[in-house]
Amino acid sequence: MHAMVLKVPGTALEWTDLADRQPGPGEIRVKVAACGVCRTDLHVVDGELPDPQLPIIPGHEIVGRIDAMGAGVGGLQIGERVGIPWLAHTCGVCPYCVGHQENLCDSPAFTGYTRDGGFATATIADARFAFPLGEVGGDVELAPLLCAGLIGWRSLVSAGGGSNLGLYGFGAAAHIVAQVAKWQERSVFAFTRPGDAATQAFARRLGANWAGGSDETPPFPLDAAIIFAAVGDLVPLALRAVRKGGRVVCAGIHMSDIPSFPYRLLWEERQLVSVANLTRQDGIDFLRLAPQIGIVTQTTRYPLEQANRALADLRAGRFDGAAVLVP
Ligand SMILES: [Zn+2]
Ligand SMILES: [Zn+2]
Repeated sequence: MHAMVLKVPGTALEWTDLADRQPGPGEIRVKVAACGVCRTDLHVVDGELPDPQLPIIPGHEIVGRIDAMGAGVGGLQIGERVGIPWLAHTCGVCPYCVGHQENLCDSPAFTGYTRDGGFATATIADARFAFPLGEVGGDVELAPLLCAGLIGWRSLVSAGGGSNLGLYGFGAAAHIVAQVAKWQERSVFAFTRPGDAATQAFARRLGANWAGGSDETPPFPLDAAIIFAAVGDLVPLALRAVRKGGRVVCAGIHMSDIPSFPYRLLWEERQLVSVANLTRQDGIDFLRLAPQIGIVTQTTRYPLEQANRALADLRAGRFDGAAVLVP
């Protein structure tokens, strides 16, 4: 197999030939058809997340087909198309796992961070954490659903049912969440980098009722806002934009420091919360809904060996929607 491997954080991924791996008990081997590039991959590569397994193959928005199975795998078949998400393994016995919060497991494994991921021609996964994807939709188009879609969905649920929803940072996740929120008949207010007219136009094409710079005040107070951009300065701005009793959800795994702000921005029962990882139930719920909603992802394809260029383009905001690597 071939893979793009991170050996030292802060350096480029290296094209590497590796021996084919065999799935152990309870594991599947998946021939990768497409793997999305997530901002979290950028955080791993840049060394912004603690204690990655090194060397590591990044990538946790994997779509592919099972080509080998270890002993004891049930409910899946050779040749079946599956999706492999960020949550790679949980312990099953800690208080969080037992309490239906496996996203907060005390001893988890994460694809492309503490376990090899999908910037490769093949990957090994714990079969219990793979999602059957069926045959509807293209591999490349489905890939962004595996994290941008799933974390976006969890964030949207966390934001509550209010009708005026703000999205700060209109990248891969927001472009999916906007479609879900419109399907739910909500109003979407998209906030981009100030002056980013192209992304604002992209948001309007996807049904946003309003799009503007993150420094702008929306025309109506928001019931909730989700912050997808890894920019702590957005927290007080979003709190300022939500109504009394409104909620601000931080959806990212990493964010620059949040500047101090006057307490009155939080007062009147505004809430500031974060979303971490996903549960398998999030995946089941969202992947069941996605075909009904008719989500159309906008993707930019890169050959696997150009993963470094895809990461650089993501960092620089050179495309709208999501980047997807194709082996
Ligand atoms: Zn656990
Ligand atoms: Zn991700």
